[in-house]
Formats: sequence, structure tokens, C-alpha cells
Amino acid sequence: MSLVIKVGISSCLVGEKVRYDGGHKRSDFCDVELRRHLQLVPYCPEVGIGLGVPRPTIRLQGDSDAPDAVIVKTAESVTERLADFANNRERQFEQLSGYILCAKSPSCGMERVRVYKEGSNENTRDGMGIFARRVQQMFPAMPLEEDGRLNDPLLRENFILRVYVYSAWQQLPRPLTASVLQRFHAQQKFTLLAHNQPVYRELGRKLAEQRSFDEDFTTWYIETLMDALSKPASRKNHTNVLQHIQGFFSDQMDADERQDLTEVILGYNSGQLPLVAPLTLINHYLRKHPDTYLQEQSYLHPYPDDLKLRYGL
Ligand code: SF4
Repeated sequence: MSLVIKVGISSCLVGEKVRYDGGHKRSDFCDVELRRHLQLVPYCPEVGIGLGVPRPTIRLQGDSDAPDAVIVKTAESVTERLADFANNRERQFEQLSGYILCAKSPSCGMERVRVYKEGSNENTRDGMGIFARRVQQMFPAMPLEEDGRLNDPLLRENFILRVYVYSAWQQLPRPLTASVLQRFHAQQKFTLLAHNQPVYRELGRKLAEQRSFDEDFTTWYIETLMDALSKPASRKNHTNVLQHIQGFFSDQMDADERQDLTEVILGYNSGQLPLVAPLTLINHYLRKHPDTYLQEQSYLHPYPDDLKLRYGL
């Protein structure tokens, strides 16, 4: 049975007519492309706390770091109810490997949400929706992203990559042991090297020194790893990783194969070829010259190929 990866999503992004005005904000990429591989689990916190559709608008006000969500017409605060909507779903959210949020919403927005000065229309765009903030506080390692940012090929690839790495972590047998963690860390080696070499080495060093793999340590490990992956990898780092991989099995390749791979990696480095080109060639040569260590690397098969995420990198 194939693995079902669940990702939470703001209901309006999958076409549910739950917005304050009875509309939706359906995203084709989420509702069509991602649905083919992920089980999208929609939630609308404002409907969930009983505000109904249509409903009066809500806005954030006060301190940007800890704003209050109020119904504009009545000034009634709904902050606690929105946070509790997340609190009461902890068990369900534990099953999620990521969350896609609707931008700009005082409930779901992840960043740059308007925060108003109390009793005024003056505002700054530096807030985070109440529900989104609570989900982030409850699950700091879980990848979160906004619908609009998913239109950027780099951010889109980065989010999906993190969803698959986080899901792999969630699938590890519990309780976590040294050998399970070391194997997981080894499988993420090239993915992590492409994003953040110092963090790869620090995590490896701590894993080797660690005697007890209690919750404090494993929470620190996954939060550090996911944070390191949250910045997209640069072309320079990808090139280094590709050359590193080439070095791993260059003895098995003949001179022509080595030459072809070198040229394709350089073509990627100069921006003439997308990342999918050297990776396709590496996977082709790996089928000819199998190497278990390389074939287990998440970097070579991070997510389903037909999402075509590495064509735009
Ligand atoms: S942004 Fe969030 S609260 Fe607003 S309609 Fe969409 S799911 Fe509901």
C-alpha cells in the first residue's frame, strides 16, 4: 500500500466557498497538481469557530508580535477562539506533513498580514494570522507555506521537498534509536549539504556523540534540520553536491560517461541546463552502476518526478 502524505490547507484554496464574502481562492496547483500525490486536508478556522458564511470581516490590531483578531463591526475579540481551533486539533495536526495557508488572512496568513492601530485605519504589514501562528508554535518543524509563494518555482520546490523529508521523519519507527537516526541522517546527506553544510556536520557530530535519544534531542535534531532546509539551495551548492556524487562512483563509469556527466554538471552550473538534467544522467548511470548508498539518498528522489519541480531550477 502506498504511503499517504497528508497536508493541511486553508479550505478556500481548494475551492470551498468559505470566505467572508461567500467566495473562494482556489489554487490550481494545490487542487490539481498536489492532489495527485498528497492528501489535502482542508480547514477553515473562521467557519470552524462558528462565524458562518457570509460573515463580518475580521482584522488584526495592536502589537504585531501578539495581535488581537477582532470583528471589525463589533470589536469583539476572536483571538482565543481561533487559537483554540488549532489547540483542539492537535491529534489531527500531528498526522500532517505540511500546511498550505491562504495569504493575507488575519486567521491563516503566514506573513505580512495587516495589523491595525486600535481605532484607526493606520496599519503595518508585519503580522501573522492567529491560527497560522498557533500551528507554527505547536509544530515548529512542520513546513508551512502560503499559496502565493508557491507560484515561485524555488519556493514551491523547497516546500514540497520539506514536506517529503518531514514525512520520512514521521514514518521512522518509534522509539528512535541511534541506528535509525544515523541511517536517516545519512539518507539526507546530499539534500542537507545542498542547503547548509555546517548544519549537516553539526547534526552528524551531535548524533555521533549522543548517548540518549530522548525527546529533547530528537526534537532539537528535526527542528534544526527542517530549519536548515527552509532556505532554497543555491546553484553553487547544488553544483558542489553533483560533483561530490560524481566522485562517489566515477571509478565505475568509463571515460565517455565521466566526460558527459562533467559537461552536463557544468551546463547546469552556468545556467544553460535545469537541475533535472544532471540528476537524470546521474540516475541513469546509477542504474548501470548500482550503488546502494547513493540510491538511498533523498537528494536523488526527493518527491515524485512528475511534479516536475526540478525543471524550473
Ligand atoms: S483564509 Fe482561512 S479563515 Fe479565511 S476563508 Fe480561507 S480558510 Fe477560512
